Amino acid sequence: MKLFNGMTVENNELAISGVTVSELRRKYGTPLYVYDENMLENQCDTFISNFKSEKFKTEVLYASKAFSCLEVLRMANRAGLGVDVVSLGEIHTAYKAGYDMSKAYFHGNNKTREELKYAIEVGLGTIVIDNDYEYEMINDLAKESKKTVDVLLRINTGIDAHTHEYIKTAKDDSKFGYSVYDETIFDLIADINGQSNLNFLGFHSHIGSQIFEKSSFYEAAKVVMEFSRRVEEELRLTIKVLNLGGGFGVYYTDEDKPFELGEFLQEYIKVIETESENFGLELEKVVIEPGRSLTCNAGSTLYTVGGVKKTFAGREYIFVDGGMADNPRYALYKAKYEAALANKINADENTVYTVAGKCCESGDMLVMDTKLPKAEQGDLLIVPSTGAYNYSMSSNYNRLPKLPVVFVKDGTSRLVIKGETLEDLIRQDI
Ligand SMILES: *Cc1c(COP(=O)(O)O)cnc(C)c1O
Repeated sequence: MKLFNGMTVENNELAISGVTVSELRRKYGTPLYVYDENMLENQCDTFISNFKSEKFKTEVLYASKAFSCLEVLRMANRAGLGVDVVSLGEIHTAYKAGYDMSKAYFHGNNKTREELKYAIEVGLGTIVIDNDYEYEMINDLAKESKKTVDVLLRINTGIDAHTHEYIKTAKDDSKFGYSVYDETIFDLIADINGQSNLNFLGFHSHIGSQIFEKSSFYEAAKVVMEFSRRVEEELRLTIKVLNLGGGFGVYYTDEDKPFELGEFLQEYIKVIETESENFGLELEKVVIEPGRSLTCNAGSTLYTVGGVKKTFAGREYIFVDGGMADNPRYALYKAKYEAALANKINADENTVYTVAGKCCESGDMLVMDTKLPKAEQGDLLIVPSTGAYNYSMSSNYNRLPKLPVVFVKDGTSRLVIKGETLEDLIRQDI
């Protein structure tokens, strides 16, 4: 298992930002999500300090769907990030965390009237229009509230970014946004731009997630800018804001080869500066919105080993006290993770195990075929890089309570989300 910055070994035992895993278990129990707060802050700082330009303003948004809770949003707000939200719940969480809502962007392909109304009420900064149906609702609500609402239009560049390559295709059938190859988009933009209660600023594009090839981002940015130029010429308007989305790839296992983030961000800015000049754009602001790359590696999940079982066919299982309810990513798309026995971190990794959860579902796996030391009941198993799309995708399957979340920093730990109790599980039942 790769040890991230902030992970150290003391007496054969793993510590995260100076707090040992056994202390974490003693204080909070398992299963448990643990975040290294320094790592979260450093990632925010890397984005803020490297994605900067002298030609236009820049803004980094935290795509809060990766992990949304009050404390992480307070931290992102303090670090100077804006926020990307996709539902009433995410808006509410950001609002209650004290976020400056003018720095919020509202995404999604099927925003409801209720969500849009609330967004306008709390002064949410920019609404990203996905489709005609939303456009009409946003326009109506803006008129009703007698406000002017800043809007972007979500477009598709036809850059289909797989993890290590991209393909360019005009045959876009994504559920999000409008294809730049769809000529009807010009009428729509002209229409939006003509509305007195809407302030049309530009475009939003997000090409996908867990992307490792820098050129995918550069190519997509180019297509967005080339398209912006066409729109400016045909419709005689100015594109002021481009939001280029997130999707920066991170390390889960040694199959993942992420680029060095700071270096990439500086290069990305250069590409945007050069291309915007080539296309004669006068951009006021360029926005990006990382989710996974801000929180993923900062978070780990700690489990206690229960049964260790060899099947008739020969597979050796380690059973842990959580599983797909707290991390559904293997069950969803065979996502890969590393693991270690955190209380025997230096021991010889001489056995191949499959780490399985406790849910009643044969797909409830966490890590397939990984080398670990001989495991026993009571060992502490850590799965790192669970800081994005784990808590936020967790469920109460099998009526498992949601786990607590702890932040650790320089030898101290604090609870930021309480674990659910049995009473919480039946609270809404009638
Ligand atoms: C999910 C999402 C992001 C963040 O993606 P990551 O892969 O987590 O960086 C950014 N923008 C939009 C519109 C998204 O849907």
